[in-house]
Amino acid sequence: MIYPIILYPDRLLMTVSEEVTEITDELIAMLDNMQQTMKAHDGVGLAAPQIGKRLQVAVIQLDDEEVLELINPIIIEESGESIDVEACLSIPDQYGTVSRAQQVVLRYFDRQGLEYEMEASDYLARIIQHEIDHLNGKVFIDKIIQRFTREEAEKYMEEKQDD
Ligand SMILES: [Zn+2]
Repeated sequence: MIYPIILYPDRLLMTVSEEVTEITDELIAMLDNMQQTMKAHDGVGLAAPQIGKRLQVAVIQLDDEEVLELINPIIIEESGESIDVEACLSIPDQYGTVSRAQQVVLRYFDRQGLEYEMEASDYLARIIQHEIDHLNGKVFIDKIIQRFTREEAEKYMEEKQDD
């Protein structure tokens, strides 16, 4: 099932989500649907508040096939700084550079209820921080350093890839 995406400035996007206390069939179905919804909208990440659920849950597209599912994720360490352009499915047509930690250590649970610790850097670290912000009721446009049009954002990303 593909969920409709909650759009800014819906209050839900500014609300802190609740921790998951139990892995239920409903939660598993929600994770499956979030994956489908993210793919259908060509997103690289999706947090539960974006589909109207106030829960500490997010999915991130790692590559064509693999999706990282995060339940109750927290960043326990961060270092460095990286500035890059961001966008958000909930805030169409807004683009801009945001400063993020270059490297993070993350703790989270998977759908089996197992706890993991992982290190991420650069692009993946950026998506993780963007999604965890959603779970804490924060949106990237409040952190924009330099605002871009769609064309400028695309150009910026192309130039980065050429580096
Ligand atoms: Zn977003």
